[in-house]
Amino acid sequence: MFEKVLIANRGEIALRILRACKELGIKTVAVYSKADRDLKHVRLADESVCIGPNASAESYLNIPAIIAAMEITDSVAVHPGYGFLAENADFAEQVQKSGFVFIGPDADVIRLMGDKVSAIDAMKKAGVPTVPGSDGPLPDDREACSVIAERIGYPIIIKAAAGGGGRGMRVVHTASALWNSIQVTKSEAKAAFGDDTVYMEKFLQNPRHVEVQILADGQGNAIHLFDRDCSLQRRHQKVIEEAPAPGIDMALREQVYDACTRACNEISYRGAGTFEFLYEDGGFYFIEMNTRIQVEHPVTEMITGVDLIREQIKVCTGEPLSIKQEDIKVTGHAFECRINAEDAKTFMPSPGLVKTFHPPGGLGIRVDSHLYGGYTVPPYYDSMIAKVITYGDDRRSALKRMEIALEELVVDGIKTNTDLQKELVRDSAFGEGGVNIHYLEKKLGL
Ligand code: ADP
Repeated sequence: MFEKVLIANRGEIALRILRACKELGIKTVAVYSKADRDLKHVRLADESVCIGPNASAESYLNIPAIIAAMEITDSVAVHPGYGFLAENADFAEQVQKSGFVFIGPDADVIRLMGDKVSAIDAMKKAGVPTVPGSDGPLPDDREACSVIAERIGYPIIIKAAAGGGGRGMRVVHTASALWNSIQVTKSEAKAAFGDDTVYMEKFLQNPRHVEVQILADGQGNAIHLFDRDCSLQRRHQKVIEEAPAPGIDMALREQVYDACTRACNEISYRGAGTFEFLYEDGGFYFIEMNTRIQVEHPVTEMITGVDLIREQIKVCTGEPLSIKQEDIKVTGHAFECRINAEDAKTFMPSPGLVKTFHPPGGLGIRVDSHLYGGYTVPPYYDSMIAKVITYGDDRRSALKRMEIALEELVVDGIKTNTDLQKELVRDSAFGEGGVNIHYLEKKLGL
């Protein structure tokens, strides 16, 4: 096992990783920006190093500072969490070149899956179902592009190969708008990602977002941990997630799980990862892979009993995966509500001093949060301050527990989106299960 792990992240996920390390008997190093010296995990870590000023570009994204912190603390490995450098292939490469372990897949695997065109190509080869599309980058030829669009059928979506975070996408409804939309998306992609490669896909009108969790050791052992539904989104940001995805035929899901584990073995994937799909009219369509742990991983932990971060760390030591597929059983249902420091109606961020924090509790309730009374939420980073996770024998009881948990939650001093979450868990269509990715924005009148 690693002797010492540096946690290259902040907030709730840094605390989550710290806890997993402690259970595994690993010493921990926290790195933090000036604004973050009072973070809970910084206080609990064995060692801590300030890596720079408030701006993440100069701290949490500062590769030389993080590698220097590994050197001075004699860390053996780095856990990147999610966001920041978690899917940065250059970071993973520099960590490896400096003689440390990156807790995640190899840099070239991150690179392969980070380019959506090559990711889709790799998935197709492994038999993972993908969205009908251009099968590669769009050519710089107006006529050829319109032929591709006609073959796919309008509406189509133009997407940047290097895109991420919901940016670099444009929907096209008519042939007359096609060429101009391609040019605009290309120049936006060039400006945002430094790469103007774009491709085309059929635009699915009412899909759900369903994703498959996997664990793999890069040595031919890959397992899946079933799926999650994350369709409740605003501006491509997930708001509530649940596991398993409700109301989808099990035989179909098994086919998709098999394809995902096959794909992992084909690309020698190591660590935890997620295959994201759109699901519409009984079909799954791969859109991208996240080569890291995700925010919503706890709902999978609740229904499988597997500590995903612990297993992720273990496989990255080079040990073979210790869990077998037949050991993974789903029991019950779980939800996660993301609590953000923001106005529940306007969504304006609301950083500031948290006067009191009373997390909910009781059987089947889990709160992953770095908050404490007297903590000040800084304005510089993501606004998520807590994840309320509930478990029940079935979907209905897990949802009821969420209702009760949200009633108990008190965050005093700053505004949070708790009132919106309370409304959503009582929403009748959401209660039925299976709403599509547009449901929340429609409900909000956006
Ligand atoms: P990003 O990496 O920016 O998150 P994704 O490829 O995961 O990009 O797509 C983000 C979101 O955009 C999806 O969750 C979905 O809401 C929408 N989207 C992407 N591709 C399609 C498609 N072919 N049809 C309909 N919606 C899509």
